Amino acid sequence: MERGVDSRLMKIAAAVILLAATSVFAQQRPDPAQQARPVEKPKPSAAKPADAAPPPKETPQPEAPAPKEHPLAALPYTPSLDIPSMDRTANPCADFYQYSCGGWMTNNPIPPDQASWSVYGKVSEENEEYLWGILLDAAKPRADRTAVQQKIGDYFEACTDEAHIEELGAKPLQPLLSEIAALKAKYELGGFLAQQHLRSSGNGWLFGFGSTQDYSNASQVIAEASAGGLALPDRDYYLKTDAKSKEIREKYLAHVAAMLELIGESKAEAKKDAATVMRIETALAKASLTRVERRNPYNLSHKMTVAALSRIAPAFEWKSYLVTTGVISIVQTLNVTEPKFFAAVQKELKTVPLADWKAYLRWHAVHSRAPYLSKKFVAEDFNFYRKTLRGVKAMPPRWKRCVQYVDRDLGEALGQEFVARTFTAETKAKTVDMTKRIETAMEDEIKSLDWMTPATKQRALEKLHAVANKVGYPDRWRDYGKLNVVRGDFYGNGTRAILFESERDLNKIGKPVDRNEWGMTPPTVNAYYNPQMNDINFPAGVLQPPLYDAKLDDAPNYGNTGSTIGHELTHAFDDEGRQFDAQGNLKDWWTADDAKNFEERINCVRDQYAGYTIVDDIKINSKLTSGEDVADLGGTLLAYIAWKAADPNETTPIDGYTPDQRFFIGFAQWACENQRPENLRANAITNPHSPGKYRINGIVSDLPQFQKAFNCSADSPMVRAKACQVW
Ligand SMILES: [Zn+2]
Repeated sequence: MERGVDSRLMKIAAAVILLAATSVFAQQRPDPAQQARPVEKPKPSAAKPADAAPPPKETPQPEAPAPKEHPLAALPYTPSLDIPSMDRTANPCADFYQYSCGGWMTNNPIPPDQASWSVYGKVSEENEEYLWGILLDAAKPRADRTAVQQKIGDYFEACTDEAHIEELGAKPLQPLLSEIAALKAKYELGGFLAQQHLRSSGNGWLFGFGSTQDYSNASQVIAEASAGGLALPDRDYYLKTDAKSKEIREKYLAHVAAMLELIGESKAEAKKDAATVMRIETALAKASLTRVERRNPYNLSHKMTVAALSRIAPAFEWKSYLVTTGVISIVQTLNVTEPKFFAAVQKELKTVPLADWKAYLRWHAVHSRAPYLSKKFVAEDFNFYRKTLRGVKAMPPRWKRCVQYVDRDLGEALGQEFVARTFTAETKAKTVDMTKRIETAMEDEIKSLDWMTPATKQRALEKLHAVANKVGYPDRWRDYGKLNVVRGDFYGNGTRAILFESERDLNKIGKPVDRNEWGMTPPTVNAYYNPQMNDINFPAGVLQPPLYDAKLDDAPNYGNTGSTIGHELTHAFDDEGRQFDAQGNLKDWWTADDAKNFEERINCVRDQYAGYTIVDDIKINSKLTSGEDVADLGGTLLAYIAWKAADPNETTPIDGYTPDQRFFIGFAQWACENQRPENLRANAITNPHSPGKYRINGIVSDLPQFQKAFNCSADSPMVRAKACQVW
């Protein structure tokens, strides 16, 4: 549902946001060391600071921007379309992406520390530079710091104190390794894994556990156990048989062995243990659903008693697990996303000897804690997850990674400082107004659909009217009062922050849903729809130039941010979102005929996108991307209709472009990007969004409004004979 790229945030946003929203502990929180920042939809660059990222440096630089003015807001500039980012020698009717973004692609080579580079990526980096200034200031141990400034400042200070982190080496990991060594029997895994689930992000330790909204009663929070246990980004990495996948598995084995050697294993032991890890993880991967299967929420909805789960996996000590996580008294029933996966856990627990489990646990210990340890751990982790898998050439500078950790672990504390300095009341008012106008456009569209019956229309309108619009930042900030942040203790701060988040998450079980909650932090350059909350969320970070510019005319603003708003709103009615009702319950409200008509329209989009090539011989897996593709198509149309209603008589050309042309150039320029081939390959497996080129060309070639704006002849590449239309 989100508009961006890849990240564990996708768990709550995109396809994920769709499904498992805030489930599984801190699973949705991205690990900055390994993941690109979530970015849904990039946009054009008007007047910007320097393009190139600063060369990787290992210490924060004194010339960090002063925390007084936002770099974007501070620049004197004339708001305009980003003409230099265009390639006006290209024919808009032949390749509109090249026409709108050709200049950008030439002028913006991918920085060495990035897997891809995009308009969204640039805004993210500008936000990070700005947050860096805020954090440097907050890190000064002054007596007048607020409680929020103390926490973010001291966390940042500890993270950037590399000399101290270097001195400690692998020492902070020793207690955990000793605990693993001391395990005497497999039944002890219940209590042990509970401790690790409380203190680690993600669901890498055998499976995931956390809170989630009840599929059948969206107002209640229940517990959920989900598939996990893998350290490669997707089950497909373990199972695909092509040469490239085999090569990546060989490199993964070498990486696991290298990490185990770093904690003291001999070369021979490490090699043997890496093979054991691969064997266990492959068995778990085989029992896991594919990403496409997980797009169907019914495949993930299996509410059962703890006793029933215990019958599926009796070899696991569920009682000690629930006692240690502190939820034994409140969890009688839970959702088990993939019962078949837990049957495989049972089989592995029965057959794999304790010594092999210890190898698996040592790997996940060093893997999950690597970012908090000395350089050799961080470098080895980077070499595999960023360099091999994503093609990144150089490690981001330390300050940047530390900004990302603060954003992950104290996001609403840092977010308060960000919002206070960057998000104006004018921007909020204007974007709220735009959101309402796009909702009105959707209401009109639903009413006028010729393929939907009145009964289904009625329910669709109910759902539309129930969508909550969340713009900028939460109404109530998260209270980090109980989280102890200590100067000079990066490892401890990281572990305590994850524990704090896990306990916050588990405390929700058995209680009504807090609809104020956000799944992204305010500086995030992205947006999302959550079907169980039935809300659309636009953090302050995404509502800034060049994505949204209050000083600019409506046409490009509606084309750009308007289509983002339309995109998220359309998710409420895409192939996943449509399965949830106005309150967020998983409940079918469609007549059989309407559902069939709708699926036919989705299939048109699936067929269209299945024809596009991502890289080499890899085509788009349009069963994975169709929710996003349909949201792009519907969202752009809704933004166009809303804009026409707002400015019905606007005909004056600006910069030599008609208002209609400005709308579509503004639309295209959110998506300007360059990607490394390795990243494209990884995205083909994990990312529900199509590459930027097709998110533009695929859409405009379905829209007669575009073709008219640029006078495209019927035989142009940007005119599809059989255009798809959903909304
Ligand atoms: Zn989306």
